[in-house]
Amino acid sequence: MITEAVASVAGDNAPLHTPEISGNEWEYVKDCLDTEWVSTVGSYVNRFEEALTEITGAKFAIATSSGTSALHACLIVAGVGREDEVIVPALTFVATANAVAYQGATPHFVDCELTTLGIDAAKLDQHLSDTAELTGDGCRNRKTGRSIRALICMHTFGHPCDLDGLKALCDRWRLVLIEDAAESIGSYYKGQHTGNTGVLSALSFNGNKIITTGGGGAVLTNDEDLARRIKHITTTAKTPHAWEFVHDEIGYNYRLPNVNAAIGCAQLEKLPEWLHQKRALAAKYRDVMKELAGISYFDEPAECVSNYWLNVVMLDEDKIELRDVILEALNGAGLMSRPAWTPMHMLEMFGKCPRGDLSTAESVFRRLINIPSSPRLA
Ligand SMILES: *Cc1c(COP(=O)(O)O)cnc(C)c1O
Repeated sequence: MITEAVASVAGDNAPLHTPEISGNEWEYVKDCLDTEWVSTVGSYVNRFEEALTEITGAKFAIATSSGTSALHACLIVAGVGREDEVIVPALTFVATANAVAYQGATPHFVDCELTTLGIDAAKLDQHLSDTAELTGDGCRNRKTGRSIRALICMHTFGHPCDLDGLKALCDRWRLVLIEDAAESIGSYYKGQHTGNTGVLSALSFNGNKIITTGGGGAVLTNDEDLARRIKHITTTAKTPHAWEFVHDEIGYNYRLPNVNAAIGCAQLEKLPEWLHQKRALAAKYRDVMKELAGISYFDEPAECVSNYWLNVVMLDEDKIELRDVILEALNGAGLMSRPAWTPMHMLEMFGKCPRGDLSTAESVFRRLINIPSSPRLA
């Protein structure tokens, strides 16, 4: 049933998401090698950053060595430190929570909503009313005594989360809004590219994302001072000087190498074509899933345009026990499929972190399946 339905769209053998190398990648990388501009300075880094600002509409883009390092840089610049908590969705890739831990801070896990798979703003507002208070120093967790500094929302599998609701909530509770837009290049919320509502946003260009640089990421922001801060701490906090080494704080080697940026420049040229293909693929899956009982295709939220990074099907509540049987069948048939990430609070290192009720995240974890989603399958 579902195996046949997925095979009717994706063919006999299909990885979950493959990098597509079909444009100017070879030419641009060869140019780096020929000119010996291979490392963390070079024209492709600048070109890549410019292209990112054009595509996303963000004023500034700073390329980084990974999406994780981009997230970490966002938290540093947002002033998150030890003794702070950061609101993080329980349903996310582990890097979102890890970046908080890198700062010595504590992730505080909250639930998602079924319409977007992102943070449920209304439920979080209620949870904060129950557990937190506003003080002269911002939001404070009454139970742990720690400050809740920031909120990282995430656009799950490319579907934009409730940015208006979360922005209003962050204003009310005085939290810095950071978007983990690692999965959402090419996704729009009410006509605006994701990554423009948060004070800072992180993109990823890992090999399994829509756009890849091999490994890489970027920070987006519309604030010039923050952009300067991000650039500074991701390039070892070196002060400008013709020949002297002076570093004015502890910085990081988080800059994207020029060779990787060259790949990224070629990839971004293909983004419109791939987004088009991914919509076509989503339409095919939506169609074949209509015929199946007990399972439904997860569609882009209202007023949003999703990049459909990974296609999602959701089992009905009473079909939960079938998830692993279906995953076995799909993977056995060469149709690479995966469950959602194990929710963060169920991972050992985050088991004792503060959290709200996470019943929707737990339900989604037991019901969600990602199916093959490479653009070329369209
Ligand atoms: C991929 C991803 C990251 C991390 O990006 P890397 O480039 O692999 O470090 C962070 N958050 C989410 C939601 C992701 O999907």
